Amino acid sequence: MGTVQVINPATEELLRSVEQVDAAAVDDAVPRARAAQRRWARLAPARRAAALRAFAAAVEAHIDELAALEVANCGHPIASAEWEAGHVRDVLTFYAASPERLSGKQIPVAGGLDVTFHEPIGVVGVIAPWNFPMVIASWGIAPALAAGNAVLVKPAEPTPLTTIRLGELAAQAGLDEDLLQVLPGRGSVVGERLVSHPDVGKIVFTGSTQVGKRVMAGAAAQVKRVTLELGGKSANIIFEDCDLERAAATAPAGVFDNAGQDCCARSRILVQRSVYHRFMELLEPAVRGVVVGDPRSRDTEMGPLISAAHRDKVASYVPDDAPVAFRGTAPSGRGFWFPPTVLTPKRTDRTVTEEIFGPVVTVLPFDDEADAIALANDTPYGLSGSIWTDDLSRALRVSRAVESGNLSVNSHSSVRYHTPFGGFKQSGLGRELGPGAPLQFTETKNVFIAISEEG
Ligand code: NAD
Repeated sequence: MGTVQVINPATEELLRSVEQVDAAAVDDAVPRARAAQRRWARLAPARRAAALRAFAAAVEAHIDELAALEVANCGHPIASAEWEAGHVRDVLTFYAASPERLSGKQIPVAGGLDVTFHEPIGVVGVIAPWNFPMVIASWGIAPALAAGNAVLVKPAEPTPLTTIRLGELAAQAGLDEDLLQVLPGRGSVVGERLVSHPDVGKIVFTGSTQVGKRVMAGAAAQVKRVTLELGGKSANIIFEDCDLERAAATAPAGVFDNAGQDCCARSRILVQRSVYHRFMELLEPAVRGVVVGDPRSRDTEMGPLISAAHRDKVASYVPDDAPVAFRGTAPSGRGFWFPPTVLTPKRTDRTVTEEIFGPVVTVLPFDDEADAIALANDTPYGLSGSIWTDDLSRALRVSRAVESGNLSVNSHSSVRYHTPFGGFKQSGLGRELGPGAPLQFTETKNVFIAISEEG
């Protein structure tokens, strides 16, 4: 039990104390969720669709409140936080269409009729990180509910506020209180109990690769289904034939969005040697121009880091003798600020190989296409990445060769609720979002019905 002090990272002020539930609370929540899930799954598909639309409408009616909570709890710039709340509404709306579209197959067989059903798994545990709390929670909640499951959500310890509010809004919208339950608590307690509980049929975990491996190992004991969304060290590959001005102007947003606390951050910029110096000349003013400050201001592009401890971790990657090319600015005084920082290290440096999860980017030159691909793939991660080139064939060749789940060409976009999202290699397992997400929360059942020969 106990409480956690929820802190505003831009001011270090206490926002609220939130009670942490214990493992016994999980044990109490699971059977209630199971009972609610059975009632939910028995409802007509149109009723479940309408309930999810009502939940989306409740979110729509509280966009400003949800955004303000995320600004205060996470230090996200207000414009980003509003986008995030709108995204949650859109995710719910998109998957509200699923209950009426979860069609099975009819497969030709001898001697009868063969059909498949997509049965709900039952109770799903969603374990969320602190970097995009409500967005990532919604990626599990919406398709799991749409497929007929109940959901237990464990927000990350420092950032429970929007998730708690989403749970309240779901209940206000008419969803059974036991169908979607928010369980704030410690990862080592509530998270572990969700993983070990025999009646939780699936875990959706988003967080560090280190904890993700532990979740996967724990789930193996029961062959529990898992979706894992883990770390990243994505490459932004700049070829000499691209629009260099645009590539340089957009590179800061590609890595410093959410102060670099983004699993998709393009934290390794790889630049063809022939244009390296020109690119750095263009990148410098773009980095110095990033507006870092009060997240409540509409001009702000980057807010603070989530905590003092996380700032210390990020700072450890930039010691006094670090190869700093140039830096942006950040406020001094209260708040967990860290300026956008550009490093030019060796290829083997830990700033190149480890996920920093802060506003620190490394820039490395490469020689040719083969070198760029080898460098991009020289990481255990494979989540995201960008390719800048005006040569369509090269764009396609490199897109196919980079071992990553989400690539963008001449852009830094990664996430759309209607396209699949997830990682190669140690960046994860399974996919979220996109049209297929509800199927990730079902078991396929095949039923053969014999047809008598007599007529
Ligand atoms: P984290 O792994 O420390 O924690 C994530 C969640 O797991 C939290 O809710 C935490 O309480 C819980 N947890 C901790 N120990 C646990 C245990 N033993 N069993 C079960 N749950 C446990 O990660 P974080 O610091 O909150 O988030 C940052 C990490 O998340 C980064 O590595 C980032 O790349 C990754 N991330 C990935 C994606 C993606 O979609 N691939 C998205 C966002 C963040």
